Amino acid sequence: MPIVKLVILGSGGAVPKADRMLPAIYLEDWLGHRVLLDAGEGVQYRLLQIGISPSSLTLIAVTHMHEDHILGLPGLVITSKFLGGRLKVLAPKSMHGALSKLGVEVADSYEEERFKIKCVEVCHTVDACGWLIQWDVGYKLDLSKTSGLPKWALTELIKGKPVKIGDRIITPEEVADPAHKRFKYLLYTGDTAPCPEMWKKVGSVDVLIHEATFADDVSPSKAHEEGHSTVADAIEAARALNAQVLVLTHVSARYPDKSRHRELASRISPPPYIYIPEDFETLLVKL
Ligand SMILES: [Zn+2]
Ligand SMILES: [Zn+2]
Repeated sequence: MPIVKLVILGSGGAVPKADRMLPAIYLEDWLGHRVLLDAGEGVQYRLLQIGISPSSLTLIAVTHMHEDHILGLPGLVITSKFLGGRLKVLAPKSMHGALSKLGVEVADSYEEERFKIKCVEVCHTVDACGWLIQWDVGYKLDLSKTSGLPKWALTELIKGKPVKIGDRIITPEEVADPAHKRFKYLLYTGDTAPCPEMWKKVGSVDVLIHEATFADDVSPSKAHEEGHSTVADAIEAARALNAQVLVLTHVSARYPDKSRHRELASRISPPPYIYIPEDFETLLVKL
């Protein structure tokens, strides 16, 4: 079953607090991929605390060059090398030269048969990538159209491959439930102001992890000037992208707790279902 586990290792931004570290989210999918989204300072210790060896990561995807998102990277890369891991780092193109000096493979996309991740340009003060993950979850078959087909054929059709039975070629589209989406998407924005150009390019996603640096005590124009978003902006983005699940993170240290963010989020009726997790909280998302 397509389930994605997210462990929030750092839900702060710019300046850490004792209970709100710098940006990092650990993502593990049902196919076994282990991805770290951003690498705030000290993230390798946080991974160890949740029982994940740095050398077991598939990928680290950093959004941009601001220190709060990358200071954990060198330590993580060094530890991974000591342990024989072969890390791949994804980053905006402008960072590739500097990051390759760490002796790791750097790119701005990665793909396997059922898993793809790529950079989508967001609206920050420097060159920055949001990371868009696409999973191929296959087709859901309409059983009324598949009776009599052998099991091997059903398996191929679910994977999106046509099959030949005798002289007849059956395509997945012929026997699929048309209401079911074959691809599922998760977008992690990193730091961004509202970014309609990006929304247009991406279209729609199932899960959106969006920054909400500010609540409603900072004027939206000031937030946007700094390349950041408010809670209302993140909700607007989730609606523009048709996201069913919205996770808010990168909460400024100016807020002693997240009650203001939660209060603002509670004023809207779902969807999107909004989560404002604390550090070390785990979210299980069914795609
Ligand atoms: Zn930041
Ligand atoms: Zn930034």
